[in-house]
Amino acid sequence: TSAHLEAIEAARALNAFVLETPDQARAMAREADAKIGKGEGGPLAGIPLGIKDLFATKDLRTTACSKILGNFVPPYESTITSQLWRDGAVLLGKLNNDEFAMGSSNETSCFGPVVNPWRREGANTDLVPGGSSGGSAAAVAALLCMGATATDTGGSIRQPAAFTATVGLKPTYGRCSRWGIVAFASSLDQAGPIARSVRDAAILMRSMAGHDPKDTTSVDVPVPDYETAIGKSVNGMKIGIPKEYRLDGMAPEIEKLWSEGAAWLKAAGAELVDVSLPHTKYALPAYYIVAPAEASSNLARYDGVRYGLRVPGRSIGEMYEDTRAEGFGAEVRRRVMIGTYVLSAGYYDAYYLRAQKVRTLIKKDFEDCFAKGVNAILTPATPSSAFGIGEKGADPVEMYLNDIFTVTVNMAGLPGIAVPAGKDAQGLPLGLQLIGRPFDEETLFSLGEVIE
Ligand code: GLN
Repeated sequence: TSAHLEAIEAARALNAFVLETPDQARAMAREADAKIGKGEGGPLAGIPLGIKDLFATKDLRTTACSKILGNFVPPYESTITSQLWRDGAVLLGKLNNDEFAMGSSNETSCFGPVVNPWRREGANTDLVPGGSSGGSAAAVAALLCMGATATDTGGSIRQPAAFTATVGLKPTYGRCSRWGIVAFASSLDQAGPIARSVRDAAILMRSMAGHDPKDTTSVDVPVPDYETAIGKSVNGMKIGIPKEYRLDGMAPEIEKLWSEGAAWLKAAGAELVDVSLPHTKYALPAYYIVAPAEASSNLARYDGVRYGLRVPGRSIGEMYEDTRAEGFGAEVRRRVMIGTYVLSAGYYDAYYLRAQKVRTLIKKDFEDCFAKGVNAILTPATPSSAFGIGEKGADPVEMYLNDIFTVTVNMAGLPGIAVPAGKDAQGLPLGLQLIGRPFDEETLFSLGEVIE
């Protein structure tokens, strides 16, 4: 814990932490030491972690990196973080993210962008760590914590993991409790770990997963000991290679990485099969209807009355308007406007309802594929390596294209893991994604470890 606290202090320029909790960390570490001494240390005893600022932490400022939450201090602890502390983990502080987890570069945070610890060979440009869990990925990559919590609505665990050579798992929808996590799009949101290795991600998952009566969408299925999946044979497993992910104009280095990954799995005894997921091309447009629709509804609670920022006005209407105009950043306002539009009486059928139908078709594509005996699907994690801070700010659609390989997984509620797999010509990390059957995170860990 002391070593990590020192590392955090020395790496403040990365802007990965938005709140450091050194006193609490030392107290928790001492407590863990005492328990270890008595033989009562839990599976994470003394392991220092960073927590994305989307997770409510009791008596500690939680902002979702939005001005509208101001200095909100929750009187409760999220289920996932409670489980981590129950198992002995140590809180180092809260990690930066895109405002309300909306973004792919961590540039929409009210605390400013996070700097990726990786740089292009021979260049000094600061790169983004990806988003929205940019603080989590940068902190793990820079060895500021041993692991971090993160959330993924359309790629926010896997894309930053790919940009920083870390491992990120988005579990099956319902695998982890969402209670006490600031909601973005409730039917897509799922929390998971970002870690230094596949094994570490498996260890963290065991503490994070589990049914929670406080989240009715969490599923009551036993939590396996994920670590036993590491090193398990993948001989005879069927790995699907979906042809629709081979995009026109795909970067040759991404294509090469994808073939290499497939070859490694084959060498380990897996069988490669060509599969088709025909509705893939509709996933991104459908996601950018469903996610903003749910976000506009979830964000209605930020009204200046119950918590966070309040900008006083002459009437309650003016107070609402001024609070929301000042409290929400540009990307969040854009999402609220899109969401309100697609849910409005005249457009609901044409946009929202249609997007939901497309979502069902995307889910069915995967079901058909798994019904043919496919154990997991291999794809690239991102269409490129990390880009420069400010490079993609002008056009929101260009930013949204980052999610092209990851959003389908959230739309279908499936588990997906991003694993570091190689580097591009400029020395920047690239990742591969494995998509699994519902509640079969174990297969992803076994296969992920082969690639890693
Ligand atoms: N980049 C996507 C978005 O902006 C996904 C974000 C996420 O997974 N939280 O919506």
